Amino acid sequence: MVTGSNTGDFGIIPAMKTPIPVTLPPRDERDPGLLSVEQAQQQIHGLLTPVTAIQDIALHEAFGRILAQDLSAPINVPPYANSAMDGYALCGSDIPASGSIPLSLVGTSWAGKPFTGRVNTGQCVRIMTGAKIPEGTDTIVMQEQAQRLEQQITISSGHQTGQHVRHPGEDIRQGSVLLPQGKKIGAAEWGLLASQGIAQLPVYQRLRVAFFSTGDELRPVGEPLQDGQIYDSNRYTLTGMLLQAGVELIDLGVIADELTAIENAMHSAAKCAEVIITTGGVSVGDADYVKQVLQQLGQVNFWRIAMKPGKPLALGKIGPALFFGLPGNPVSVMATFYQFVLPALRAMSGETARQPLVLKAVARARIKKVPGRTDFQRGVLTSDNGKLFVDTTGIQASHVLSGMSRANCFIVLPRDCGNIEAGAEVEVQPFSEFL
Ligand code: AMP
Ligand code: MG
Repeated sequence: MVTGSNTGDFGIIPAMKTPIPVTLPPRDERDPGLLSVEQAQQQIHGLLTPVTAIQDIALHEAFGRILAQDLSAPINVPPYANSAMDGYALCGSDIPASGSIPLSLVGTSWAGKPFTGRVNTGQCVRIMTGAKIPEGTDTIVMQEQAQRLEQQITISSGHQTGQHVRHPGEDIRQGSVLLPQGKKIGAAEWGLLASQGIAQLPVYQRLRVAFFSTGDELRPVGEPLQDGQIYDSNRYTLTGMLLQAGVELIDLGVIADELTAIENAMHSAAKCAEVIITTGGVSVGDADYVKQVLQQLGQVNFWRIAMKPGKPLALGKIGPALFFGLPGNPVSVMATFYQFVLPALRAMSGETARQPLVLKAVARARIKKVPGRTDFQRGVLTSDNGKLFVDTTGIQASHVLSGMSRANCFIVLPRDCGNIEAGAEVEVQPFSEFL
């Protein structure tokens, strides 16, 4: 090596001794070879075949299932006029224009034990919330607004005829569409079906989803970790998301990074499921065999998406089964599942597409972003005086699963945008969208 007072360590012209300030160009990951998130979603959509098999099931088994037909209401709800308040049922024409009048109390209408007589003018009936409105009455006066002295009730002016009465069919009219085909049965729908006395209903057959983790470093929970090993967390995350999606789960465990092991696992998955999901082994590492096996057994549709986290993603088919090869990093698994797999599972399960809820929130602090990929940063959405604000959860690396747990939304930053300054408006996707 040439050293000397006027050549410097590099042995070149003296002018090079003074370091030239170097300004690095801003980082940019623009790569036209990457598929956009929207293109990927469209391609997936074109590959979906919804389940058509229908089964009749009992109402108590119907939570989370998808209705296979429009259901119309066999009865009115409420089935009869009833009181919305605890108070007194009377005839509206008895309400005084001014001052007050006494009415004689002739009985009680309980919820489930109606008053069976007829109520005449000048009379009233003690009534409980939900109890049937007695014949001859059409108005309820709340008990707090009436005076009782033994069998005499005094009411004053200021009440409206017909007040506090729930009318038959006010909630659901007999013969109307109760729930449409493609509706997922959640808590409200489950109650609605029960309110109609519907004991059996047609739903789509549950979608079967087989899944496994790949990676020589993975150990199942319950076994001690050796040097260089980690616990397989993806299968738990995936199981949780699949349970919320309401599909039937076929857990094929952890598969080693071996061509034949992965081939066998994919082969058996394709035999028992409509959808196969793997995590790990889809990147460009030397032990990443998933894409190779997919090519052998079926077809690969694409595998590089302009999103962060989650660039490597394999989509394909093995026979009729749809295949998703998700990346290995835990946050990438969740982000790609929510953006691609969940909408596919919902459509294949027969569920009617939902209109996604897109919110705008103000970034409280600067958000770092490199142009080139759509970012799904983990954010905490809060509201202050009715205005929405969002912060990131801090470090945005794809292995930081704790950030996913602290977050309540994705901050969705468009592919070509760079850093976001504090105070700018950004789009957020609340995690409640994925439930
Ligand atoms: P891979 O895509 O297989 O190269 O994995 C990317 C990263 O995700 C590596 O750091 C893996 O150790 C990690 N990883 C892969 N699978 C899992 C898993 N099931 N649970 C937790 N981390 C995983
Ligand atoms: Mg791996």
